[in-house]
Amino acid sequence: MKRALFISYNGIKGIGAPQVIEGENRLAIVLPGVPMSEYLGIDPVLRKQKMIELFYCEEVLEQHDPSILVMYIGDHGLAEAFSLASMLAGEDKELHFVSCECQSKRKKELCGEWLLPNPHFHETTCGGEYVMRALLDQFIATGVITCFPRQG
Ligand SMILES: [Zn+2]
Repeated sequence: MKRALFISYNGIKGIGAPQVIEGENRLAIVLPGVPMSEYLGIDPVLRKQKMIELFYCEEVLEQHDPSILVMYIGDHGLAEAFSLASMLAGEDKELHFVSCECQSKRKKELCGEWLLPNPHFHETTCGGEYVMRALLDQFIATGVITCFPRQG
């Protein structure tokens, strides 16, 4: 059974709540945050709290032990995002970042600082909702994450 974790502090298109989605011989743990459109109305302190809650779903992770990690990294919370990626990725996991252009230089630096195992970068507009969903659909359909998906 191949297992992948999809995690974003922003939304994942069409996914309203944390869930496990199964395909043939594969399983995706999907932990969405709050869609960008709703973010704007949320107090920054509460937003940060939600991000932190999202980042500590250890029970789910221990239960499923995903070997593939797909994470959105945007403009905010880079320190938290890289800290989490480092914790989850270990030394042998396949790591995919869905990344917007914001702070792209800083993101590359952080990959080096955190010694992350050669992450794959997938370009997206800010928020990453569509690309996260496209990669999820690709994984469920094929069991692998290969191409840079078109933005929908
Ligand atoms: Zn951005």
